[in-house]
Amino acid sequence: MSTNPAVAEIVAKYKPIWAIDSASALLGWDMETYMPPGSSEPRGFTTGQLQLMKQELMMKLVDPVAKAEKTTGLNDFEKGFLRIMKHDLNYFTKIPPKLIEDLAKVGTEGTVVWREARKKSDFNMFKPYLEKMVELKRQEAEKLGYVGHPYNALMDRFEEGFTISDADKVFTPLAPSLKSILSKVLAAGKFPATHPLESVKYDEAAMIRVNQAILKLLDMPEKTFRMDVSTHPFTTGMAIDDVRITTRYEGEDFKASVYSTVHESGHAIYQLQADPALEYTPLANGASLGMHESQSRFWENIVGRSREFIKLLFPTLKGNLSFVAKYNEEDMYRYFNSVKPSLIRVEADELTYNFHIILRYELEKKMIGGDIEVSELPSVWNDMMERYVGIRPENDAQGVLQDVHWSGGLIGYFATYSLGNVIGGMFYNRIEQDMNLKDTIAKGELGKIKGWLKEHLHKYGAVYSPKEMQTRLFGEQYNPKWLVSYLEEKYLA
Ligand code: MG
Repeated sequence: MSTNPAVAEIVAKYKPIWAIDSASALLGWDMETYMPPGSSEPRGFTTGQLQLMKQELMMKLVDPVAKAEKTTGLNDFEKGFLRIMKHDLNYFTKIPPKLIEDLAKVGTEGTVVWREARKKSDFNMFKPYLEKMVELKRQEAEKLGYVGHPYNALMDRFEEGFTISDADKVFTPLAPSLKSILSKVLAAGKFPATHPLESVKYDEAAMIRVNQAILKLLDMPEKTFRMDVSTHPFTTGMAIDDVRITTRYEGEDFKASVYSTVHESGHAIYQLQADPALEYTPLANGASLGMHESQSRFWENIVGRSREFIKLLFPTLKGNLSFVAKYNEEDMYRYFNSVKPSLIRVEADELTYNFHIILRYELEKKMIGGDIEVSELPSVWNDMMERYVGIRPENDAQGVLQDVHWSGGLIGYFATYSLGNVIGGMFYNRIEQDMNLKDTIAKGELGKIKGWLKEHLHKYGAVYSPKEMQTRLFGEQYNPKWLVSYLEEKYLA
């Protein structure tokens, strides 16, 4: 795809780096699925060595990239390739090895302590590690450089070019709109907070058959894709032609397993449908974490939790899970779409989920900006939960200690979950201009939806930045009003 000799040369030199990333991804997948529990030390050593090899190879590309950037008449592939290279090299060139080492060390130690602290619901145990981590992340932001606020440098690592001014434009109007929908839904009682199916135990073998049927329904390719099991479901791609997802089986409340499968399949479809010409380049990837999450959320919530999809799935549920016989499709719709203000982010429904993110975004911004001390986090967290969701955590395990992210240094990441919901809403509105989505799902023509997404988004991989991609798709960026109108249509109509 490259005609410019300077770029073509870097593309060729990138191949061993791509191979290191691909191998690292496979090692990471194995670690969460099949690795024996006592093997984490040699695995950590191996991945660390591979990262050093990658860094060494990347540094050799600093000058060639700077030179290639000066050439004119580059095509979109070449511009995208150089943009990603520059973004990645920026980190390797600006962050001193000592800081990388400290971040890794505090991250690893902090994660071990966080696990114990969460178990004991003891924030003070974790506090010194989080304080160190926040200090290191501030240093990281200073080294990377930023305009305006140091938190911008951290968010840019996960969502290229995304700033607090963008985030405030999303969250400031989103919070009151969601609050208004939520209070109406709770008052109407049409989407009940609990459902008897939540406590029904299922047989794992039967649930595996249901999930396999879901993969068939989504027409996931048998030759280049597979599904396994892990505690926290995820998607990873070794290549465009080798994408893996995991799902979970907890033995009860089967919707968690169903929607893990659909959510991760949404991520996988994005990877699998990239233009094959992007293989072995950093462009064989999603445009950003927010864009990736828009695909998983679109399939999970907008398609997967629709009446029409549930109708498609119902015979499979009835055929495999004997307890479903007592219920009809409408019961299933209510069960899959129950609305319940809850304390735990990963258990939150479509209407309350974004409050959990807004809270974390506000706290991270203040922590990095020095506007709040780590010691104040638990009480500020609880106050905000009460204000946004209407309930107060009774302990820190249900509050500030619930997520793994901060312990490992993932600060600036949370916002991308909500951006996924927001962009998902933008997709819903945009696709509706080309087809009636509900009719298409009702007819079981899910391939038509996949085809649309491939043509408009997936085939481009990371050629365009998330902002450019959205401008091409929607003529605007991160507009929360489409998520709000989708939720109003679904929950209030
Ligand atoms: Mg996801």
